[in-house]
Order: sequence, then structure tokens, then C-alpha cells
Amino acid sequence: MDPKAMYKLSYGLFVLTTKFFDKDNGCIINTAIQAASEPNQISICVNKANLTHDMVMQSREFTVSIISQDATFDLFKRFGFQSGKDADKFEGFSDKVKRGANGIYYVTEGTNAYISVKVEKTEDLGSHTMFVGTITDMEVLSDSPSATYAYYFDNIKPKPEAVGKTPEGETIWRCRICGYEYVGEELPEDFICPVCKHPAEDFEKVVK
Ligand code: FE
Repeated sequence: MDPKAMYKLSYGLFVLTTKFFDKDNGCIINTAIQAASEPNQISICVNKANLTHDMVMQSREFTVSIISQDATFDLFKRFGFQSGKDADKFEGFSDKVKRGANGIYYVTEGTNAYISVKVEKTEDLGSHTMFVGTITDMEVLSDSPSATYAYYFDNIKPKPEAVGKTPEGETIWRCRICGYEYVGEELPEDFICPVCKHPAEDFEKVVK
């Protein structure tokens, strides 16, 4: 069995946003799909380690802004590589968001559409929860093509710096998603990237 088969699945990329009382938050997901057409429904799967997950559980409403090929790496850093527990992800970003009819922010730059959803069902899948809901509002924002996960890796994410050799010959495990580096001969199986929350399977071994 080759676990790399998982990388052959294709995905879009989205900024998932929600609002619970006065708190706005959001994160990057790659799991929004149209789940049914009659009635028109969207599903998303969100990692339970994300604060946005807990907030959608409570608010039962969310918006997905569809990331386009115009997006910069800054958008991914802002929503993907910091936690809403420590930072206000919308600070200094007010000119790149608007509130939709549901009162939740959608992102207006580096995106080509947004879809607002009212949660009807949740399913506990272990690491993630699946949220399924009906669409309450949606608009097209730009004609720019949607960014796929593969497009992000090839064109948006900075290429990792080449590694030199050190006399110590340390082994580095690098997160494929965000570039975080863990130093150690073996990466613990249950390791979670402290930056982007991806699991040990998303690390690759780099020998310095
Ligand atoms: Fe990471």
C-alpha cells in the first residue's frame, strides 16, 4: 500500500469563516464540495484542532471563500499558519473582507466566489468533523481560475530553501504543507505540525 496515492486526489482551497457572538475567525480548508444538488448542499470537513471547527459547531453557520490563482502566500499564512486562539486573523485585513448576508466575513482578494451555508448535519469522523448544510447566499467575485491544492504547491507556496550539510549530520523532517522543520532521527507517529496542524504523514525526511 502506497500512502502517496492520497496526494493524487485533487482539491480546491478555501477560506472557511464563521462568527460566534462578537468573535470572527477563519482557517484554510481543502475540503469544500457540492454534496448534493436537490436541495443544493455543501459539505466541508474541518480538523478538530482548529478553533474555527469549534466555532462552526456553535454558530451552525459558515462561509467558504473560494481561493483563486490570484491569491498570495500571505493569505495562507494569515489563515493557515496561525491560530485564532492567539491572533485576530482579520487584524489589518479589513479592506480585503466584507460581511455577507449571514454577518460572516468573506474574503474579497485572492478569491473568486463565496458560498454561505447553514449547517444541517454534522458527522464525527475522528480527526475531523463533516458539516453539511444548505446554501443561504452565494456570489461570484472574479473570473480568475480557482486555485487547486496542486497549483498552491507549484505556484504559491515558496520553494523550500536548499539544505546544506552540517557536521552533525542532523535529520530534519519538513512539513510539506507549511515548511516547519522538526529536528530528530525519528518523527513521532502522532506528531502534529505546531504551525499548520497537519499530521506526521505530511512530513518528509530531509538529511542535512
Ligand atoms: Fe505544517
